[in-house]
Amino acid sequence: MFATWRALALIVLGAFSMTALGKDKQPTAIVIGGGLAGLTSAYELQQKGWQVTVLEAKPSIGGRSGLATSEWVGSAKLQPSLYRYLDTFKLKAVPAPDYVRTPGYLVGGRYFTEADLFKEAPSTVEGLKRFDKSLDELAASIDDPLKPTVNHTLQTLDSISVARWLDKLALSPTARALVDQRIRARYDEPSRLSLLYLAQQARVYRGLPDTEMRAARLPGGSQLLAQALAKPLKTIKTNARVSAVVQEKDGVTVKVGPTGYKADYVVLAVPLPALTKISLTPSLSTLQVRALKDINYGWRDQILLKFKKPVWGKSRLSGEVFSDKGLGMIWVEPALKGGANLLVNLAGDNARLMQAFGDRQLVDQVLIRLDGLYPGAREQFKGSELRRFGKDSLAGGAYLAYGPGEMSLYWRLWEKPLGRVVFAGEHTDALYPGTLEGALRSGLRAATQVQDLKAGKAVAPVETAAETRPEAVAKAAPTKEEQKGFFSRLFN
Ligand SMILES: Cc1cc2nc3c(=O)[nH]c(=O)nc-3n(C[C@H](O)[C@H](O)[C@H](O)COP(=O)(O)OP(=O)(O)OC[C@H]3O[C@@H](n4cnc5c(N)ncnc54)[C@H](O)[C@@H]3O)c2cc1C
Repeated sequence: MFATWRALALIVLGAFSMTALGKDKQPTAIVIGGGLAGLTSAYELQQKGWQVTVLEAKPSIGGRSGLATSEWVGSAKLQPSLYRYLDTFKLKAVPAPDYVRTPGYLVGGRYFTEADLFKEAPSTVEGLKRFDKSLDELAASIDDPLKPTVNHTLQTLDSISVARWLDKLALSPTARALVDQRIRARYDEPSRLSLLYLAQQARVYRGLPDTEMRAARLPGGSQLLAQALAKPLKTIKTNARVSAVVQEKDGVTVKVGPTGYKADYVVLAVPLPALTKISLTPSLSTLQVRALKDINYGWRDQILLKFKKPVWGKSRLSGEVFSDKGLGMIWVEPALKGGANLLVNLAGDNARLMQAFGDRQLVDQVLIRLDGLYPGAREQFKGSELRRFGKDSLAGGAYLAYGPGEMSLYWRLWEKPLGRVVFAGEHTDALYPGTLEGALRSGLRAATQVQDLKAGKAVAPVETAAETRPEAVAKAAPTKEEQKGFFSRLFN
């Protein structure tokens, strides 16, 4: 009898302590994607006591954070989240010299500051200034950069491509070539870009002098920040390419090959082209599936050229330098990798065109152009490092760059959780997509959303296009090809 009571007490005790355990059980999350966004989510959740597993498809973490060994970054005013994390990890950005803070131009093989260019070719500078002023007027027409599609006029901007608007500005050929190069280097080819997106981005940075854009240098590059975020994380699995995410009533299973990982919640921090290759159960909404096919990514390849000596002589070549020959954003890299290094960005359709070329041929093409600017460059060349984001199926392009019509349909679509799955990544940030700041902010937001879901709190509402313009989105049955037909019919 006594034994029976004892056994019963043990079972009750056991049941009690299991309930208590259940209540206090450490919450678990899986973060898919070890770029800056995923690492930020993982870091923040672990700090809050979560047990986190990061699954990264590549052999190393860091994702798209730069090839550069010492990137230029904006000021603390411009990139507050970035500077907060740099402070946390005691990473120091070094102030940029003044000559780096303003863009330079390579025209007809010669380097110019804007002031020098004005003396030599005033009509070109007049064109550059007219472009800046017209863009600023468009930016000023947006009251709130978080609500860019709020009225019909702004929606119309979304239906027009930047190239079409530039045609109307009728700039001189050189001014147009330089403006095109600026736009494709920062976003994408003007013909592929929504005018509303260009204006919204100009609105986000409006009032901040251009000199704040390249205010400092981050020695070691943003990879150092990725490593600092990863260091305290307990579980990071590399070479772990996720193929499926299955949500059940009480958790989520994430599949990597034959292995299934289980957790309470998932942060999906992969670029949209990579998301198309992950099977989701339950599946994405019809609008999300359409968005995955439609949303434009800019193309940008980074080519680090190593020379025996600086073939550019005393030319400044640092910061952002735009050429009229399709080479955009050229800057001198410190000799950390040995010798004299030049980082060249090939962007937009110039980069797309080169996709058919192998790495060696691509480097040759860039060298031919550089040799035209700096005779002897080919002889002095001794090696290269390449990052070709368009060719990388785990990136699928450089970063989000909304095409015509896309903001009206997909605005803030990825900030809403899908059950126990929350999205992160630069493409999910409404204000700073395509930047380190955007990636970090999205990681922070995703970590907060996961905690809110766990606490049973309503996730902070976001005004997506589907909510602000339900009729327009409901009518959005046509495919992107059909939309293109519609818009060109409207504006031709
Ligand atoms: C050429 C170039 C230059 C840039 N220059 C600047 C700059 O000067 N200043 C600035 O602020 N920003 C710059 N950026 C932008 C910045 O680098 C990005 O915004 C940021 O790195 C994106 O981080 P992310 O975490 O969103 O995505 P990612 O870094 O792409 O991380 C996503 C990760 O998910 C992984 N992944 C994909 N699919 C799977 C899968 N199925 N399973 C597991 N893992 C998967 C990928 O391998 C990757 O590591 C630049 C970007 C490029 C491409």
